[in-house]
Amino acid sequence: MSQFLPFKQQIVDAAQKLTKKGYLMATGGNLSVRIAGQNAFAITPSNYDYLKMTADDVCVLDFDLNPLEGGRKPSVESGMHGAIYQTRADVNAVVHTHQVYASALALIRLPIPALFDEQTIFLGRRVAVIPYAPSGTARLKDTIARHVNDHNNAYLMQNHGALCFGHNLERAAHNVEILEKCALAYLLALCTGEKVSKIPLAARELAFAKLRKDQKKVELGEDGNGEE
Ligand code: 13P
Ligand code: ZN
Repeated sequence: MSQFLPFKQQIVDAAQKLTKKGYLMATGGNLSVRIAGQNAFAITPSNYDYLKMTADDVCVLDFDLNPLEGGRKPSVESGMHGAIYQTRADVNAVVHTHQVYASALALIRLPIPALFDEQTIFLGRRVAVIPYAPSGTARLKDTIARHVNDHNNAYLMQNHGALCFGHNLERAAHNVEILEKCALAYLLALCTGEKVSKIPLAARELAFAKLRKDQKKVELGEDGNGEE
């Protein structure tokens, strides 16, 4: 049995759940998970139907993008995923989506300030907009790597979509859902023309301090993406 099987199965389960819930449309978006204890990650194949994907279709790459397992072409954003793992030791799972409401904010380049407690607890201080670079390019990889070292767990990608992180894939997938709820509520609130209120700064900073504390435990290997 492949040593990577548990990680590949996590990818299949999360991709299918996110597809059924409408966060991954057609073959847009991609997911990856860090292989615990190795400079490698499992990632979705490129342009492949997530509902027919099995563990055998999932690709395993090292951080230089050399294939370690899997016969399919890996996601065109593999470089971006690999760069995130190298930049963020606290991140063990990455989900990139083209989810609609977050994408709408990415089109108008509007970051999401701290609006809700659960947002600051799981996504961080704010959801920033990372400037545009074409899909699947080294320029996108470099741009993303430059912008994710502020330790937030969700970002908007200008004219593209969204990016969510977690210490495991389940957390990263939940963060996708929290992000979409925040984006929709923010858009609706903006449509009223009324002033949108934020949570108090002290509450935001308290939540972020707790998030950073948890992230540091992951960096030290005290909590993460083992094969549990
Ligand atoms: P892949 O199917 O190659 O993962 O590409 C989808 C995507 O979202 C590109 O940004
Ligand atoms: Zn994309």
